[in-house]
Amino acid sequence: MKPFTFTHATEMADAVAAASAGARYYAGGTNLLDLMKNGVEAPDSLVDIGRLDLRSIGETPEGGVLIQAGATNSAVANHPLIRTRYPVLSQAILSGATTQLRNMATAGGNLVQRTRCPYFMDPEFRQCNKRMPGTGCAARDGFNREHALFGAGEACVAVHPSDMAVALTILDATVHVLGPNGSRSIAIADFFALPGKHPEQDNTLRPAELITGIELPPGVFGAASWYLKVRDRHSYAFALVSVAAGLGIADGVITHAAVALGGVAARPWRVRAAERSLIGAPATTESYRRAATVLMSGAQPLSQNGFKVALGHNSVVRALTVAASRHDQGA
Ligand code: SF4
Repeated sequence: MKPFTFTHATEMADAVAAASAGARYYAGGTNLLDLMKNGVEAPDSLVDIGRLDLRSIGETPEGGVLIQAGATNSAVANHPLIRTRYPVLSQAILSGATTQLRNMATAGGNLVQRTRCPYFMDPEFRQCNKRMPGTGCAARDGFNREHALFGAGEACVAVHPSDMAVALTILDATVHVLGPNGSRSIAIADFFALPGKHPEQDNTLRPAELITGIELPPGVFGAASWYLKVRDRHSYAFALVSVAAGLGIADGVITHAAVALGGVAARPWRVRAAERSLIGAPATTESYRRAATVLMSGAQPLSQNGFKVALGHNSVVRALTVAASRHDQGA
């Protein structure tokens, strides 16, 4: 591993100043350290942000919840406010990684973890536009069964690996950041970047911006929500397809609906037309199938991942069915 300097920040301004001078933020280290060990990342300096006062989870004056960026994934998933008001977020986080990793990984770090595309993860592969812009994309005509169905381009077909982000998407979360020019807020729908001409950019953070928190508006789905993750093995694996689904139901009719897919694009994939097709419809399998058809209609499978189209369709129907059943049970 290339030598690097390591400093600790105790104030956010100091951390941002260090990042402005070229340091990389280091929180749980569960992704960045792996990438440094295998040579994908080689920063000259790291600034540890684990000592910042950024670990709380609490209610906002508006009735939502603010998750500070340094809260661990375990702390978020197991917090009573999250478990009771946003169970889909708790389910999503607990479906990822392992207990040990969740105890180290942070909410902020979860959002900026890199793709697990095997060509990106191994510097021996010399074609990867995300790791080395301009070199090509080995996955396009190579191993791509885990890759994107939506929003990809010639440059990159990788998917974002976060489960948490998929749940945050249906919860309409907001990401708060602090940078050299002050603080700003980014809607989760605008946080992740599709590859376009710059696949090396995973998100819309500006240089040296530090994620300080993730804000959830008051929950509208409560228990009537579900996170379904489909993967090659039951634990410690990334999603082939995942679905976060939330429903509001009154007298058997759907009043609110939100559905997002994970494992199929460089960002959680949400199609508003699919959600609109559910509003006012009866809470039945037929309605869920119709919404799934709309959601999957823009899929553009690669040579090895065509199975994900049917898998995505069936997973959407399943997640909506479970969400509705939890409403019926008053879970
Ligand atoms: Fe690299 Fe993206 Fe292609 Fe994977 S899909 S090889 S990350 S450019």
